[in-house]
Amino acid sequence: MDIAKVIVDVQAKSINQTFDYQIPERFKEILTVGMRVVVPFGPRKITGFVVDKTDQSTFKNLKEIIDVLDITPALTKELLELGKWIAEDTLTMYITAYQAMLPQVLKAKYNKELIRSSEEELDERLDYLFAGRDVVPYEEFENASVPYSVLQKAIQDGEVTVNYLVKSRVTKKHITMIRPAKDAIMLEEAYEEIPNQAKKQREIIQYFIQQPEPVEQKKLLEILHTTPSTVKQLIDKSLLETFKKEIYRNPYNDDSFEKTEALNLTDQQETAIQPINERIAENQHDVFLLHGVTGSGKTEIYLQAIQEVVNKGKEAIVLVPEISLTPQMVKRFKGRFGANVAVMHSALSNGEKYDEWRKIQRKEVQVVVGARSAIFAPFENLGIIIIDEEHENTYKQDDQPRYHARDVAIRRAEYYQCPVVLGSATPTLESFARAKKGVYQLLTLDKRTNNKAMPEVEIVDMRKELHAGNRTMFSRVLKDKIEQAIERGEQIVLLLNRRGYSTFVMCRDCGHVTECPHCDIALTYHKNSNQLKCHYCSYEENMPLLCPSCESDLIRYFGTGTQRVEEALTQVIPQATVIRMDVDTTRRKGSHEKLLKQFGEKKADILLGTQMIAKGLDFENVTLVGVLTADSMLHLPDFRSSEKTFQLLTQVSGRAGRHELSGEVIVQTYTPDHYSIELASQYDYHQFFQQEMKMRRAFQYPPYVFLTLITVSHPNHVKVVQVTQKIVQFLLNQVQEGTTVLGPTPSPITRVKDRYRYQCMVKYKNEEKLRMYIKQLLDDFSDDVRKNNLLITVDMEPYHLM
Ligand code: ADP
Ligand code: ZN
Ligand code: ZN
Repeated sequence: MDIAKVIVDVQAKSINQTFDYQIPERFKEILTVGMRVVVPFGPRKITGFVVDKTDQSTFKNLKEIIDVLDITPALTKELLELGKWIAEDTLTMYITAYQAMLPQVLKAKYNKELIRSSEEELDERLDYLFAGRDVVPYEEFENASVPYSVLQKAIQDGEVTVNYLVKSRVTKKHITMIRPAKDAIMLEEAYEEIPNQAKKQREIIQYFIQQPEPVEQKKLLEILHTTPSTVKQLIDKSLLETFKKEIYRNPYNDDSFEKTEALNLTDQQETAIQPINERIAENQHDVFLLHGVTGSGKTEIYLQAIQEVVNKGKEAIVLVPEISLTPQMVKRFKGRFGANVAVMHSALSNGEKYDEWRKIQRKEVQVVVGARSAIFAPFENLGIIIIDEEHENTYKQDDQPRYHARDVAIRRAEYYQCPVVLGSATPTLESFARAKKGVYQLLTLDKRTNNKAMPEVEIVDMRKELHAGNRTMFSRVLKDKIEQAIERGEQIVLLLNRRGYSTFVMCRDCGHVTECPHCDIALTYHKNSNQLKCHYCSYEENMPLLCPSCESDLIRYFGTGTQRVEEALTQVIPQATVIRMDVDTTRRKGSHEKLLKQFGEKKADILLGTQMIAKGLDFENVTLVGVLTADSMLHLPDFRSSEKTFQLLTQVSGRAGRHELSGEVIVQTYTPDHYSIELASQYDYHQFFQQEMKMRRAFQYPPYVFLTLITVSHPNHVKVVQVTQKIVQFLLNQVQEGTTVLGPTPSPITRVKDRYRYQCMVKYKNEEKLRMYIKQLLDDFSDDVRKNNLLITVDMEPYHLM
């Protein structure tokens, strides 16, 4: 096996081609499939993944692999297969799929260094390389003639560690440890010989006579109030020695979580968990849809099912939406499984993410809780995969590879023959339809564990408020209830359903709206900097004093951003204290948690925010939830807009009255009769499902058909339309009867960053060869893409139609 087949990091014409490389002698023993390598490619050096090893190649004069980047394979065989499947399913390159499966640190271009991590005697070739130093740059090893296998052995024996340097930041963290270099009897002898005036030296030796365990140098200095130079003197006398120890950055202090025990399940929970546990026991794959109202105890079911899996020595992946990875959620998993849990989400630094990932790779944990990409956790003995809030959009990746975590979960679970549990109070229509057809097994929890009724929802018609002369954004009833709640010392959550809304600038005289010069979209006003910003590109300009069109000075900002609501709120209810949570106030790392903590400590009466406050929050003192504009996303050009509205209203209503105090919900809307608003206020998921399915059928949308969206973009308008037209025509010639090919249609936002965007939408029930046709299209246009700045993106299951 002298030849490696490598997927390289280049935009090749044939996107999934492997290239053959000769394996040089020094790597022969150690190189295995799944490792990352550096190979020559034309004049460049690039990285790649070894996907196979073989004895012969149809090519002659193969080039040699330059370097091997991993000690243990970055991807297991299963993950290599999975990546291949994802790439083919979503029509992306293998390399893109493989990179998406790894933590950022392993994707970046980096340097390495070798660290001597013990005082054990090294192989003399390595000893020569280190030449008394603790750290050597990796290049020195490359240029020396030390066999790779020697280094690998030293690494396996813990004598040397490899450190990845990303932009000169250290990715692994090391601390300096001190330990005795002699046994206790020798130390006692030495102690006698140290003169009395060297008091600190004597204390240190005394310390190690009493306990010989290694101790962190920093701690030692603290305990004995001494200095590094004193320690150094003892090291020089060969009484103590020093070594480096690698530690994980642990963003969570595992000891700070109170241990929790399994609760006695309610009858409903018992009935729901039973079939899951059976599959776990029998090592059988199945997909469960756990439909449970908010507060019905879904999370407790997850915890107990995972316990079964852990008891069998197997592993569990739990996906939660990024936004609900709140400390509250982490606490529940850490509380039950302690240090056996890795947590992965985007608020962690790259180094922290890498550490969590390695805990999984080294099988030091059995449970991972994380956002979408945690589905790629390199476990090799999976026993269950859980997707909480399965209806959330965040499970669909917007960028290449455009995979849906649910599909990946099912694929992995089939491989490991284990169950998948999809949980939600408001499942997607797709999932619920599958459950009804028996493709998924439906499990239902329709009662809250505390047996409390869901909070009462009152719909307020804002048109009537206007007619009654109320021009504020708060209805009279909402204002009254807020005041009453504050008086009782209770708290309020106010949701501004902001999607589709923003603060734009308009001239009251001529109606001119200030738009981004590079994108077809109104600029958003930011009060703090008094600037207008584009949310699609980074363009910004100062707020104009005069209308650019008619020079009137009556140019004002409109819309209801959270900042404006906050201002209005302090005018209408001056005594209220408000915590505002939106993209602007939560940009800094940790600020999300901080604001929630403040609210939990009752530092404010009102929590005001966008979608991000709708999920997962659980505050016992919240008795009133207000939705300011329930219908603001009903009119977006998106066939899921009713479903999204229903989900959001249901979620946010579930935030009130979860504990002793009962709660109520006020929903303000201009379309009180819309079925998604009406049915959400009655918590009637089944009726909503029926209604919405009728609409989907009438307009031929999922789950009745599949959608594929092809978007073409280019700076030249004519070119975009021409290419899209060609694509539409080509597909029309290929597809079967009953399949619809729509386009060329301008995308809802037709110009972004000076590029025009047109789309072609395919609606189909059964089109087995569609991927093949599109692949051919991509091949046909590949020259145009590489040379002429053309961009064609394909989404086989689009969630954002923008
Ligand atoms: P969901 O995830 O469905 O919203 P949770 O799992 O958060 O529901 O449960 C809601 C509340 O009920 C939590 O405070 C939880 O501790 C509690 N709970 C869950 N199961 C039980 C049970 N079997 N007995 C008592 N309390 C329970
Ligand atoms: Zn004007
Ligand atoms: Zn822009």
